[in-house]
Amino acid sequence: MKHFVIVASLVCILTAPVLAQDLGRFVNGELSGLVTTYEGIHAHPELSHHEEMTAALLATELRKSGFTVTEHVGKYPDGTQAYGVVAILENGRGPRLLIRTDLDALPIVEETGLSYASHVMSKNPAGQEVGVMHACGHDVHVTTMIGTARALASSRAKWHGTVMLIGQPSEENLDGAKAMLADHLYERFGTPNLAIALHDTNSRAAGTVAITSGPALAGVTSVDVTLRGIGGHGAQPQNGKDPVVMAGEFIVQVQSIVSRQENPRDPSVVTIGDIHGGTKRNIIPYEVKMELTARTFSDQAMQIIVEGIRHAAQGVALSAGVPEDRQPIVTVIESESGPATYNDPALTTRVKAALVNALGAQNVFDEDAIMASEDFGLFGLEGHRIPTVMFWLGAMDPVKLAAAQAAGKSLPGPHTSLFEPVPAPTLRTGVTAMTSVAIALLRQ
Ligand SMILES: [Zn+2]
Ligand SMILES: [Zn+2]
Repeated sequence: MKHFVIVASLVCILTAPVLAQDLGRFVNGELSGLVTTYEGIHAHPELSHHEEMTAALLATELRKSGFTVTEHVGKYPDGTQAYGVVAILENGRGPRLLIRTDLDALPIVEETGLSYASHVMSKNPAGQEVGVMHACGHDVHVTTMIGTARALASSRAKWHGTVMLIGQPSEENLDGAKAMLADHLYERFGTPNLAIALHDTNSRAAGTVAITSGPALAGVTSVDVTLRGIGGHGAQPQNGKDPVVMAGEFIVQVQSIVSRQENPRDPSVVTIGDIHGGTKRNIIPYEVKMELTARTFSDQAMQIIVEGIRHAAQGVALSAGVPEDRQPIVTVIESESGPATYNDPALTTRVKAALVNALGAQNVFDEDAIMASEDFGLFGLEGHRIPTVMFWLGAMDPVKLAAAQAAGKSLPGPHTSLFEPVPAPTLRTGVTAMTSVAIALLRQ
């Protein structure tokens, strides 16, 4: 038995480099085609809930690789169908591994000046004309999935089990994973044993990856606040209740929830990203509307923030003497809220080992948790029943990143108009990393 174990581990050590060489050759052969695909997706971004062409392209490519593909998976709470894609490849007995990409882009006018930059304009849910840009790199993720599907399909002798690829719509609204699960994703396509995803990052060079064990991304709660006053002439404030002044006080008070009410050892953030009130300089408006986002790693911290927001809104209304029927309206937007992303520590260890095998220890970093949020964790179900891991894919030109870091700066990141993943090395590493992780998890 002992002898067998030694032989088995020797085989493992010997086959790892062979596998890496084979995979390296395969990915290099696919790379120029993948870059073309990436540039096409990048030039044609689609907003959340509208990922029709992106989903169709992904479905077509996965079908070509031999996967059984189902489109239009997902139902939003208003009953509309989502553009979710599910692609299954069965390859004997073994674990069922879910790999997820997101599909959607952001309402941002691209300013990179790249030859394949997006010039797409679209309407946001409020009916306003907005630019559309893959400013979060979900085009990197889609293309990486296409390459990973091809690599897995062409190396079936090296793994066994079932691969379940998910093209998830509307990550940016945090309602896409919910929509797919609500459409009986696991009842229809089987419940996975493990779930993996990657996300690109501007803080690492292309060619490298990074991973966090345990809580990796914060939970998010979206809150709308309307402070209502009594409008009137700007020269006669005594006859009204000015919601703009109330909003000023509210904004300052909300920041003190984090600094004075939260436990400093349990990180949290609250940001007011959108504020609207008034029509003209000499008119006191009737109301000011604000959109807030709160980020925490614990439910307790989130509860303190949401209560603090309510108290601050009620407090400023009270001190302004707002009448009973004009009290503030505070609404938690459940459809745009989600839990923290938790990387299962045991699975993280296995994923990291596979990444080190594939890319070399010098290209695999440990990363701190960040306050950004994701809805990927929902695929792990309540109480982290299915172990999930999301790792980071370096996407920056190494020379530009080194120069920026030497100057004490960072390169433009996700959700900015200048975010610029460097396609070929990012995609090469993404496909190599994801394929290696999948094969390692499907070898048991
Ligand atoms: Zn994003
Ligand atoms: Zn993203």
